[in-house]
Amino acid sequence: MITIHCDNNAHRLDAYHLLSILFDKSREITATLSFAIQGDRVNCSGVLQLEDTTLPLQATTLISRHKSQKRAENAAMGKAILEGCNRKLPYGYSVGVRPVKVPLSYIKSGVSPDEITEFLQTDYGMAKRNAEILSALALEELTWEQTLTEKDICFYLSIPFCPTRCSYCSFISSAAPNHLKILPYYVELLCKEIALLGKALQENGYNIRAMYMGGGTPSVLTAKQLEQIFTRLYNYPIFFNIGEITVECGRPDTVDEEKLNILKAFHVDRICINPQTTQDEVLNAIGRCHTTSRFYHAFELARKAGFSTLNCDLIAGLPGDTRAGFEQSITDVLALQPENVTIHTFSAKKSAYLTTTGQTNPTKADTDWVDFARFSCIKNGLQPYYLYRQKNMQASLENIGYAKTGHACMYNIFMMEDMCSIISVGAGGISKLISNCGSTSKIVRVAADKYPFEYLANKEKRVDNMEKISAFLLR
Ligand code: SF4
Repeated sequence: MITIHCDNNAHRLDAYHLLSILFDKSREITATLSFAIQGDRVNCSGVLQLEDTTLPLQATTLISRHKSQKRAENAAMGKAILEGCNRKLPYGYSVGVRPVKVPLSYIKSGVSPDEITEFLQTDYGMAKRNAEILSALALEELTWEQTLTEKDICFYLSIPFCPTRCSYCSFISSAAPNHLKILPYYVELLCKEIALLGKALQENGYNIRAMYMGGGTPSVLTAKQLEQIFTRLYNYPIFFNIGEITVECGRPDTVDEEKLNILKAFHVDRICINPQTTQDEVLNAIGRCHTTSRFYHAFELARKAGFSTLNCDLIAGLPGDTRAGFEQSITDVLALQPENVTIHTFSAKKSAYLTTTGQTNPTKADTDWVDFARFSCIKNGLQPYYLYRQKNMQASLENIGYAKTGHACMYNIFMMEDMCSIISVGAGGISKLISNCGSTSKIVRVAADKYPFEYLANKEKRVDNMEKISAFLLR
């Protein structure tokens, strides 16, 4: 159990996250931290009680033009903990799930491109590799942000259903065999909400830069249900000019020619067909319920259907995998020449079947695994275009999306860096309503009920959410 005593509440949670990366949470750990400011110097000191061991903690950082007092306090605390424990982490004391936000904020506060990598290392104790990746991404992502106007938004359609549940997954997806009966009602309701929002977006002059249908596995819907949703969308001219439409067809066992042809006919540009690994014994161990040959078949069907961008997700460190198996998976997938590849690092999710049944994952991916993937992608013409992190990632690594030139997924960048508002429809969807006030922005989250049954039943909440979103769109 981790206990934090801290005289500044703003940093308590980050201290907890950092300690939970460093130590097994089942150990008795108590950190006592206090802050002192003198001019532009921030000092953090205290002790870390690690069962019978007491470690002194102390570090000083400077407030500067790119480092506010709050950020300097956070850096002093992280530095004190890492140095006190004599540990180093790839992302240093940065515990956020969106680390590209830091170099983006540097650039906006006038830091030159040459200084970003250096500051990430000195301010956050990051490894050079990670600082360099983040710097390059921030510069690239900034060019995307500069294309946005005040009226640009992204649209998200949530289909939280899957054919079966993978053992490592904590998404709120419901396994479809148990929920097939409610799918028609769910789709009907989704169409009603699309109609309300389509009208509001159109009347208020918005422009949908990117739309993402995710979940779950939206391709679990029948061809008819997909057609029903897209027909409703295209009732509103605002949906004619969407810059990019992605549909997650993550599970190859849900993909068939009829569904792909429907999606193509409705101008979907980008679809994701995710093998996760090309090692059949690993697929079996993680309960994916499909084989590698089923993935190849689905990929071939998608190629034939003519989508401009195909994405494949792979995971480093899956239970039962080996470094050789992972490298083979990378090589196999790159041989298909997808326009996007997303390399995830395994993270142990609290509510995943693997965790709740007390199983541990003996496979441990490290930087060498993901760097093999990175260099292989780059060699094949795919460059990193977005990055995020999750809790409990192996070796405290990251997930990176790679894209060939002209194929970066705008939705992923805009959503991950909170560059524009996201309007969500469906169970588990979270609308993020962003208002820019000068150089700062305010984000209001409007969350739908998580599970499809609750979502269908709770009309009051749906109406309340719709009112909040409509009021925002009317501003
Ligand atoms: S297909 Fe994706 S969302 Fe569905 S259970 Fe598997 S990992 Fe989770």
